Amino acid sequence: MNSNFLDFRSDTVTKPTAGMLDAMMNAKVGDDVFGEDETVHKLETQLAETFNMEAGLFCPSGTMTNQIGIKCFTQPMDEVICDQTAHVYRYEIGGIAYHSGASVRLLYGERGILTPELIEPEVNEDNIHYPNSSLVVLENTVNKGGGSCYTLAQIAPIHHLCNIKGLKLHLDGARIFNALVATGDKAHEYGKYFDGISVCLSKGLGAPVGSVLLGNKETIKKARKIRKAFGGGMRQAGFLAAAGIYALDHHIERLKEDHDHARALANALISTNYVLSVMPVETNIVIFEVAKGTAQKVVDQFTEKGLHCNTTSASTVRLVTHLDLSAAMIDQAIEIILHL
Ligand SMILES: *Cc1c(COP(=O)(O)O)cnc(C)c1O
Repeated sequence: MNSNFLDFRSDTVTKPTAGMLDAMMNAKVGDDVFGEDETVHKLETQLAETFNMEAGLFCPSGTMTNQIGIKCFTQPMDEVICDQTAHVYRYEIGGIAYHSGASVRLLYGERGILTPELIEPEVNEDNIHYPNSSLVVLENTVNKGGGSCYTLAQIAPIHHLCNIKGLKLHLDGARIFNALVATGDKAHEYGKYFDGISVCLSKGLGAPVGSVLLGNKETIKKARKIRKAFGGGMRQAGFLAAAGIYALDHHIERLKEDHDHARALANALISTNYVLSVMPVETNIVIFEVAKGTAQKVVDQFTEKGLHCNTTSASTVRLVTHLDLSAAMIDQAIEIILHL
């Protein structure tokens, strides 16, 4: 791809840096299905400690960590409560039904953010007709909410409600580090609120592959067996885990740059006549609504000028910032936005 390819399609498009490749090349590995890969073990332990959870499980994707988590926390015929924008519902191919045999109760949060007031009336009473409500899933940041964030102050009362109602609480933390950088909350505080946390290494953190599911020892033991059943047991996976460790050590603080870049793009977009509105920018995602015509037409015009992004509906466009988009590239993108 040439240098004029400004890739705002997703924060998954990043390539490993030289330092990351070096860390991968030098990883000490073993057969992780035999429990012998020390680098995988280090990644799982490091991330569990970061979030104050007991244990971790390295998986190939965030879809797998979410779906294994949901399977750990539900029985067939149970019901999962989540926002209607949730990745676990919209973008995981109906996996909740397929893997866990559970139904889904959809809520309508403000930009994907749920509250105890929204959740409480949707928790089923014990009744022969009703599925058993057993799990709430939150997403932080909310992808389809334009990167909107929960603070821990918002999460604590949801956890409290779940406790009273006997529900488990799972976090789809594909972009949890973006949320932590934006809110200033501490990762270590998260462990006491969630039964499961899925953390993606291949989004803003810039690793090529991988997500980690965090939970207590019993959950992760069960999750390890489910991962094997899903075909996700990996052998010398330490080469990949090393990229994840490198990302955790080097790519968290810099997420603030991505957030600043997203804000700069939003400011440019809102000043143009082809943009009707821009969702508030909290992290690295910018979603805007086109003033007239279709979102696809605007995307096509951007693409012609070398700015690549995607629609998220017939009238909305999404741009995502990440570590392979430098300040100079953001300036180029802003020129394109201002002179479309
Ligand atoms: C990307 C993403 C995931 C996981 O996606 P994979 O491509 O399977 O790693 C989960 N949740 C959210 C909100 C995401 O954006």
